[in-house]
Amino acid sequence: MDTRTPGDSLFPALEPLLEQVSKPIQYVGGELNSTVKDWDCGGANTVRWALMYPDAYEVGVPNQGSMILYEVLNERDGVLCERTYAVWPDMEALMRAEGVPQFTVDAHRAIGDFDVLGVSFSTELGYTNLLTALDLGGIPLHARDRVDGDPIVIAGGHAAFNPETLADFIDAAIIGDGEEAVLMVTGLINAWKREGMPGGRRELLLRLAKTGGVYVPGFYDVTYLADGRIQRIAPTEPGVPWRVSKHTVMDLDAWPYPKQPLVPLAESVHERMSVEIFRGCTRGCRFCQAGMITRPVRERSITGIGEMVEKGLAATGFEEVGLLSLSSADHSEIAELTKGLADRYEGTQTGLSLPSTRVDAFNIDLANELTRNGRRSGLTFAPEGGSERIRKVINKMVTEEDLIKTVSAAYGAGWRNVKLYFMCGLPTETDEDVLQIAELAKKVIETGRQVSGRKDIRCTVSIGGFVPKPHTPFQWVAQLSADETDARLTKLRDAIRADKRFGSSIGFRYHDGKPGIVEGLLSRGDRRVGAVIEQVWRDGGRFDGWSEHFSYEKWMTAADKAFAASEWPIDVDWYTTREREESEVLPWDVVDSGLDKEWLWQDWLDSLDETEVDDCRWTPCFDCGVCPQMGTEIEIGPTGKVLLPLTILGAGKAGMAEHTHA
Ligand code: SF4
Repeated sequence: MDTRTPGDSLFPALEPLLEQVSKPIQYVGGELNSTVKDWDCGGANTVRWALMYPDAYEVGVPNQGSMILYEVLNERDGVLCERTYAVWPDMEALMRAEGVPQFTVDAHRAIGDFDVLGVSFSTELGYTNLLTALDLGGIPLHARDRVDGDPIVIAGGHAAFNPETLADFIDAAIIGDGEEAVLMVTGLINAWKREGMPGGRRELLLRLAKTGGVYVPGFYDVTYLADGRIQRIAPTEPGVPWRVSKHTVMDLDAWPYPKQPLVPLAESVHERMSVEIFRGCTRGCRFCQAGMITRPVRERSITGIGEMVEKGLAATGFEEVGLLSLSSADHSEIAELTKGLADRYEGTQTGLSLPSTRVDAFNIDLANELTRNGRRSGLTFAPEGGSERIRKVINKMVTEEDLIKTVSAAYGAGWRNVKLYFMCGLPTETDEDVLQIAELAKKVIETGRQVSGRKDIRCTVSIGGFVPKPHTPFQWVAQLSADETDARLTKLRDAIRADKRFGSSIGFRYHDGKPGIVEGLLSRGDRRVGAVIEQVWRDGGRFDGWSEHFSYEKWMTAADKAFAASEWPIDVDWYTTREREESEVLPWDVVDSGLDKEWLWQDWLDSLDETEVDDCRWTPCFDCGVCPQMGTEIEIGPTGKVLLPLTILGAGKAGMAEHTHA
């Protein structure tokens, strides 16, 4: 019999397991800047959140979105928030054997004790890890089986913009920026508790749904046509809206989070402090879901950024600052910002990186500021498409000349290896478009050898399979099959290796097409795909984002089984390699991202004509729909302000560096 009181620490039961698992430190918590609050910090009406990042600790702990929400919630009186991550299979087996439930790393409380389990999905390949956590946590897998006292399971993050695939397992989804949304939900739960929790969890979910900003799949009925397409998604309760709006934080300076970034105990994927310098991107790359769903652009001011860097470094002791966004060199004051930070931290150990920089926005001044006294190890740019033609199709307005100019600046500033990222399987793509990548890489090497006068110049070509995503102009297109992707990439590899003058200077990295097909199934799926996710999970599917754990065969076998039992002629191809018509009801139509569906369709037609669309930051609005629909507008500088110099304590060589990526 379970004699625990809700909120009790599970650590006594957990401790003996730690010495039997790999990397036990990931389960112990207590990181610098982590928070543990009293279970009843708000008395009887305390609102308690368990926040999950559904991947291993080392990936989850530096995640900005989760870190921000953790701090925003814990800053409020009467609210407590703790973190939980996916446990590795060795720990899962022991927890099952010993009856230890899924726990938070902060105070080792059972996730089933909390009011809300909030799960932030960056990728669809994290869905099976949610099921493990629910099952270990003693929370019924299916939302319909949950009862009063079970947490409300809420999905968020970019991979929740099509929440229908997860409909069986989540109670709700919050679309868009989380800062204000989690406080709104917290306020609602607090009010419902104060009233004595009338109507139980159903009433609470109904109140959330009626706000218009929380999607509760259980209050929508989906009907289908005989051929498997969706006929209608309709609310089943009065007051529940037909479409749910995304949340947009307008003034980033008013939300300077994280103020106290977490410092991981165990090794993590990013050992640096990150400051988000702006949100959104209106470059209009047609394949890019992140750009489309985060419109419009909202910049943080240069002084706001300077303050966050200063306070964050003092709070953490990190020696590297990453200036984050979807395309960091597009900040209207990036030159002043990088110069200001380079000046301020000259003579200290503090390094600076721009993890996302476009080919056409990188210039010699930026290269110089980033390399001032520093390391010059790796630099990544993403032309995305191999030929000029395909770059017009995807609206990545980068010419070959831009690219050569950029790599010339980089090699000239001392970098030896430039990484180029491309996609394979883009709409209308032919073998010829992809083979152009080999030609481009050779020109890059030639340029590097010329400007540096050295022979040891390298270029690494890295290729990913294109997955069409919801809320983009490519949401209707047919995905390239895994076999065709592999065949095309084999031809490219042979073309690169064939030329002995360059072969050894060009590195070639690619993933096979199989994970992309599973990602495609989950991205553009509907609630019938839930049966596949569950089957894969029951067959042992875990950590699908990790190549050593991912099993394509497991997914295909599970899909065959689940779809064979359905009453419609649907299969994996139907969800992935099938082109949709304009009139088709899409599962994510229930989510209002602000983008006008007609505009997206027109943009798809423009893409077929190879017509480019400008960035509305610098040209007149081209009516994508977001600003009027969401009541938002573009927020950019320049502010004309400069960073005030600070007296920095500490000596040593400044390390301004690396990682420039688009
Ligand atoms: S509505 Fe106009 S200004 Fe706003 S993001 Fe769309 S195109 Fe840009």
